Amino acid sequence: VEQRPDETRLQQQLDDLEAKRQALKILNEFAVSLMTIPSIDELLWHVAKEVVGQLGFADCVIYRLESDTCDLTQVAASGDKNTGPTEIANKISIPLGKGITGAVANSVSPLIIKDLAEDRRYIRDILPARSEICVPLIVEGQVFGVIDCEDVRLNFFDENHLEILTTVASLTGSKIEQCMSTERLSNQAQIIEQVSEIVIIADMNGIVLDCNPATENAYQTRKASLVGTNLFTLYSEATQIESQRPEVLKLLKEGDGWEGRVPIRGHNNEVRFFDISVNTLDGQKGHSGRFITVGREVTEQVTAQESLKERNGVLQTMSLELTEALEQSKVAQHTQAAFLANVSHELRTPLNAIVGFSDIMMSTDYIERNPEKALEYNQYIHSAGNHLTSLVNDILDISSLAAKEIQANFVELNPVDEINECLTLIGRKAGMRDIDITLEADDIKTQILFDERHFKQVITNLIDNAIKYSPKKSKIRISTRRNRDDGFEISVSDQGNGIEASQLDTIFTAFSRADWAQAQQVEGAGLGLALVQELLNTNNAQISVQSRPGHGSTFTVLIAPEAVVQNERTQP
Ligand code: ADP
Repeated sequence: VEQRPDETRLQQQLDDLEAKRQALKILNEFAVSLMTIPSIDELLWHVAKEVVGQLGFADCVIYRLESDTCDLTQVAASGDKNTGPTEIANKISIPLGKGITGAVANSVSPLIIKDLAEDRRYIRDILPARSEICVPLIVEGQVFGVIDCEDVRLNFFDENHLEILTTVASLTGSKIEQCMSTERLSNQAQIIEQVSEIVIIADMNGIVLDCNPATENAYQTRKASLVGTNLFTLYSEATQIESQRPEVLKLLKEGDGWEGRVPIRGHNNEVRFFDISVNTLDGQKGHSGRFITVGREVTEQVTAQESLKERNGVLQTMSLELTEALEQSKVAQHTQAAFLANVSHELRTPLNAIVGFSDIMMSTDYIERNPEKALEYNQYIHSAGNHLTSLVNDILDISSLAAKEIQANFVELNPVDEINECLTLIGRKAGMRDIDITLEADDIKTQILFDERHFKQVITNLIDNAIKYSPKKSKIRISTRRNRDDGFEISVSDQGNGIEASQLDTIFTAFSRADWAQAQQVEGAGLGLALVQELLNTNNAQISVQSRPGHGSTFTVLIAPEAVVQNERTQP
């Protein structure tokens, strides 16, 4: 049947419309199908085979630009080039700039070649073709590759083909972009899954939204039980961050970060330390944001620091103890040296006298020929013997008192009366040195509980010392008084050389003598005050000393109120 020319034209228009409708349908289906395509590879094969193949193109090859070699490699195909589900026959690579594809990739603009025989750029693939259409694939503003179609017919491709293929390329490009960013995100997510740092995402109130396995490990619990709880209460031990909560939240809401060290107690009760930094995640100020906590474990450092601190403390105590021990050993050495010097002097002098004088008198008839001398020597021997006896007695007394072998025989006595008796006995000694002793008694009626012999020994020793260590013609003043606490005090003051402050403590130790060189001129073994101290201890009394070198000394015996007898005689 012969058609009229306008009928032919109409038919042509109808065919065109139908083709366009078909193409739009396929493009629409493509757009919808994009949603379910998971990877770039699958997408490219889908485009080559299902989209371009269906759109009436005889064949289609998609090239991908390799970023390292800058070659265009065939990655998907339909038509004769496609020999299996995802197989490409004669898979070739074309350098950027070479061939029609290389030119399109280079210039980033599509090309339609009407007659390939006329184009010297044409590179023949498996089958010879007469015309070609090629459009670039753009991803994130860069050439990703090209979509290329060839046809055996001369001048086959027109503007319609170009429009359709450009649309396909554009849809494909955006899908690739989406695939790449999903891939990047999943890579990032994988990194976060794998890092040893704890990563916690929380909302602006501190409610945990998500966390990584390192966080589960720190808390020794599953993510499910962490999500929904408050981050601040999670730092259970972190009194510091808990108390700083308003401040931290304020900082975060203002878009600033927070950094600090927090202890984290796991469900197994183990406490581990983390240096955490908290920052807003969405980079926006305001209440609706989220924040991210990243924490690095520092438990080992903390434990090391603590044990270092501890060891340091131990070392310090040890060094203190050592210094103390050293001091003590120095004192002990000094005491021992003083002991040897004193004792040997104190023992040798009387022993020499005894041996020497008795030696002289041993010769026959010495005594008959020198009766007066003999009497004198005998007196020397006698006094040396007495001295030795008192020395030995002192030593024995001190050790027995210290060992509590001697008990006080407490009696009620009048201290002033006792002091007067001592003065009668000692008066001669003072007189020999022209020393004047006065007694000032505030309350002559006070009675105390004390061992009488011990009391006399104490007072005699103190007055003895005052005489020994005072210059001739000086004054000694003894005073007694009730003190504020209702105790009783007896002081012996002299105008002697006094004692250095540094030696006030040691003079009460046996065999130690203050200012050794000076004291050497004066007889004494350094036992007097040690004996006084022990005697007072035994009687629950105390002694103190005040002295200023060059200005004399005052020794004060303190009788506790309990030992002061309260009867009407003592009432004021
Ligand atoms: P000694 O008198 O035998 O040396 P003491 O134990 O009685 O032993 O005294 C110890 C030291 O205390 C004395 O060597 C002396 O240096 C010092 N001392 C004691 N009493 C006085 C005093 N009244 N004035 C100055 N120094 C004193």
